[in-house]
Amino acid sequence: MCIFCEIVKGNIPATKILEDENCLAFKDINPIAPIHILIIPKKHIENFAEADENTITKLSAFTKKVTEKLNITDYRIITNNGENAGQEVFHFHIHLIANPDGKLDRR
Ligand code: 5GP
Ligand code: ZN
Repeated sequence: MCIFCEIVKGNIPATKILEDENCLAFKDINPIAPIHILIIPKKHIENFAEADENTITKLSAFTKKVTEKLNITDYRIITNNGENAGQEVFHFHIHLIANPDGKLDRR
């Protein structure tokens, strides 16, 4: 089973930030900034291209809730779609990246 599905099921530990019936936010194991959260639908969907409108809408609204919980106003959201774009885990996820104390790197 995919690694993020294992996290949803609780079979692999993760530092959870926020959760509802459809979505889960947890810390990236290899952060590239002081705040680096992964936000996923609980349902297994390969990537953005495969996601239906309802999933994208719910995940977007949930992402805003995560930013509110973290009390951040300045952040970057990224999704890598496909291997050549850098996707390594084929369970749709948004990277939420922020540095509350300064600027993020350009890339
Ligand atoms: P991608 O390259 O697919 O866009 O991003 C995958 C992300 O998942 C990477 O940033 C990587 O650090 C993170 N990651 C991979 N395996 C695990 C894991 O087992 N736990 C957590 N929390 N993050 C993971
Ligand atoms: Zn999965």
